[in-house]
Amino acid sequence: KRLPYVPDTQPSNELKKTMTKQDSYNVVIIGNGPAGLTAAIYASRADLSTLVLTGAQPGGQLTITTDVENFPGFPDGIMGPELMEATNKQAARFGAEITHGEVTSISASKTPFELTVDDNHTISADTVIVASGAKARLLGLESETHLMGYGVSACATCDGFFFRDKEIAIIGGGDSAMEEATFLTKFASRVTVIHRRETLRASKYMQEKAKNNPKIHWIFNSTVKEIVGTREEGVSALILENKVTGEESRFPCQGIFMAIGHTPNTDFLGNQLDTDEGGYLIVSPGTTQTSVKGIFAAGDVADKKYRQAVTAAGTGCMAALDAEHYLEHLKG
Ligand code: NAP
Repeated sequence: KRLPYVPDTQPSNELKKTMTKQDSYNVVIIGNGPAGLTAAIYASRADLSTLVLTGAQPGGQLTITTDVENFPGFPDGIMGPELMEATNKQAARFGAEITHGEVTSISASKTPFELTVDDNHTISADTVIVASGAKARLLGLESETHLMGYGVSACATCDGFFFRDKEIAIIGGGDSAMEEATFLTKFASRVTVIHRRETLRASKYMQEKAKNNPKIHWIFNSTVKEIVGTREEGVSALILENKVTGEESRFPCQGIFMAIGHTPNTDFLGNQLDTDEGGYLIVSPGTTQTSVKGIFAAGDVADKKYRQAVTAAGTGCMAALDAEHYLEHLKG
């Protein structure tokens, strides 16, 4: 079951004072998910003054998942919130300052960069690592929020394993839905793709692959009106609405996976960094360098493909090393 995430770095007067005490850093990291914290471990170990700002969802997406069984080093798995708590401590141990605070805007046109935090602090940074992540798009139902982690998931790779021999539904008609439906057939007794239209958005190849899988079933022209279940018992059914006939029906299942896209968290950047058509930050191939020198990107904010905790951590490491090289270069 999901544990409440209680970071050591709760907002406190002491932390607020610390943040205002020092107003300039070598490295400011935006986000304390696996990408941001790994960057913090590397940057602070390299003796760079390092500030990590947690943003609106401290700990990132791992704090809304339960067991993490695919992060290397934990043979019995680890709870997502626990993993983030431990990584926070690891970064703090090397001197990284981790504080609650949301970057509301950034001035990227001159160096040192200026960041506005919570609309009332200004911090200057020689380098910035954007590790603000992405959020899975959700349907927006109350029952969905209530049962997230208790039968509702937005990550098949993370949670598919827990649905062995269960009947599950996946929502969406894009490549992610096809890929995740195919992946989930390894565990589930049956996977039903529920899509709001008659035609799929996914590429032909991915559609064909899913359609050729006998364990995958299809419901078109339908949306989810309600998820039925409790935190104690999990999900038991979905209430569907057929968009053509207006008919409502009950679809029994024990799990529901959202695959309706992700949104990278980049609003605060105000279009100052180049992004692709999905809003993901563009980095120079093989590096974490964004379109602005001295600003680096790590984790899901620049990754629409892999989106794993371990890949985020890997690019976090790369970003810190890239920032370190950049600063050395500045010194000459
Ligand atoms: P996507 O292509 O944006 O597809 C999202 C799907 O969710 C669409 O079918 C959309 O329906 C549906 N949807 C959106 N909002 C909804 C809502 N509120 N209620 C119900 N359905 C909703 O997102 P994605 O599948 O995550 O893919 C993102 C990008 O990554 C794409 O460029 C994709 O090609 C790429 N990708 C590639 C691979 C691969 O090649 N291996 C794997 C995964 C993703 P409509 O069709 O009606 O809009």
